[in-house]
Amino acid sequence: MKKKTGFDRSTTLKWHPATRAVRGGTWRSEHGETSEALFLTSGYSYDSAEEVAARFAGEEQGMTYSRLQNPTVAMLEERIALMEGAEACRVQASGMAAMTTALLCQLSAGDHIVAAKAAFGSCRWLVDTLCPRFGIESTVVDGRDNDAWEKAIRPNTKVFFFETPANPTLDIVDMAHVCSLARAHGITSVVDNAFATAVLQRPLDFGADVVAYSATKLMEGQGRVLAGAVCGTKAFINDVLLPFQRNTGPNLSPFNAWVVMKGLETLDLRARRQSENALAVGKAIEGRVARILHPGLASHPQHDLAMHQMEACGPIFAFELPGGAAQAMRFLNALELVDISNNIGDARSLCCHPWTTTHYGVSPEVRLDMGVSEGLLRINIGLEDPRDVIADLEQALTKVGL
Ligand SMILES: *Cc1c(COP(=O)(O)O)cnc(C)c1O
Repeated sequence: MKKKTGFDRSTTLKWHPATRAVRGGTWRSEHGETSEALFLTSGYSYDSAEEVAARFAGEEQGMTYSRLQNPTVAMLEERIALMEGAEACRVQASGMAAMTTALLCQLSAGDHIVAAKAAFGSCRWLVDTLCPRFGIESTVVDGRDNDAWEKAIRPNTKVFFFETPANPTLDIVDMAHVCSLARAHGITSVVDNAFATAVLQRPLDFGADVVAYSATKLMEGQGRVLAGAVCGTKAFINDVLLPFQRNTGPNLSPFNAWVVMKGLETLDLRARRQSENALAVGKAIEGRVARILHPGLASHPQHDLAMHQMEACGPIFAFELPGGAAQAMRFLNALELVDISNNIGDARSLCCHPWTTTHYGVSPEVRLDMGVSEGLLRINIGLEDPRDVIADLEQALTKVGL
C-alpha cells in the first residue's frame, strides 16, 4: 500500500485542523480510491518465511495480525493524532476500553491515582472500584478546585484523571494549572476530551500528557458505532500503552474504524454548528428551569475558564427541574421531537435523566456529591433547526407545569 506522495507527517502538520480531519492519515492502495479502503481482515500473508520473521523481529515494516495493526485502523489512528497535534494515537473498541487502557497500562499495585469526582459513571467505577481491587489507591477531588489537586498528591501518585467539561455536570478543570502541577510532580495527566474533541479543545496545548476519547460520541457523530482513542507521545504510546493493548486486545474493528474515519470528515462542521445550536437552545430555556449548567452561558460559574480553553461550548449541557425525578421523567415523556436517549454527540437531539441511567451505577451519595441531582437532565443538541428543538422543549416544560 502506498501513501500518496506529499501526505507525509511534516506536510500534514502544516495543514489547518479542519484539513487534517478530512485528509490526514489517508493511505491509498494501488487502486487510488478517494474514500479510504476498508480492510476487513484479521490476518496477512507473506511472500516468504524470511519476510514474516523480519516483521516479527521489527526489522521490516508491515502488517502481521489485526490485534497488532490493521491498515484501516492505522489510518484512523494517524488522522486522530494529527488532529490532536499528538505524536501518536491508538484506538480501542469503546471509550471505556480507551479509559481502562490509558489508566491500567501505566498503573501498578502500590500506585495512587487522583481523579475529578464529576465524571462519566463508568469512569468513576474504574477509579473507585477497579483500581482498588488491583491495589491501586485512588482519591477523588472537586476537579474545579486547583488546591484540592495539590493537596491530594502523595509520594506514590502516578496519574491525574479528569474530564473537562465533565459528564453530566459540565464542571471545568483548569487544565493549564492542573496539568503543570502534574508535570512538576512527575505525574501523568490523562484528560478525557469526549465532550469537546480536538476541534473545540486541545488539552495537549494546555500541558496534558495523554488525551483519551470516547469516539462513540461527537467524533463518530451519527450514533452508529462504539470507539475509543488514546493520544500521547510516541514514548508513551509505543512503550507504555502498546504492550498492554497488544496483549490484552481491546482493539477497534476495522469496520468501526472506517465509520469513525468518515465521521471525522464532518467533525469540524458538526462540532461548531451543534455548539451554536446548543447555545441558542440554552439561552431559550434558561429562564424556565431551576438551574442550567451550560459552559457557553455567562451564568456558568466557570464560563470564562471554559471559553479560554474551548473554541466553542460543545453540544451538551444539563439543566435541573425543581420537581425532582418525577418531574424530570414526566418532562422526558412529554418530548415529541427530541429522543429519550442516554447517548450524546449524535446529530439528533437526545435527552436523558442521569440519575436513573448513566449514573445509576454509582451510589446515590456519590451521585449527589458529584452534582448529579434527582431533577437533573442532560441534553445533546443535534443538527436539527434549533427553533424546532426549542419549541419541543418549551411545550414539554409547559406540560410539566413550568
Ligand atoms: C461516553 C463516555 C465515555 C465512555 O465511552 P463509550 O464509548 O460509551 O465506552 C467515557 N467518558 C465520557 C466523558 C463519555 O461521555
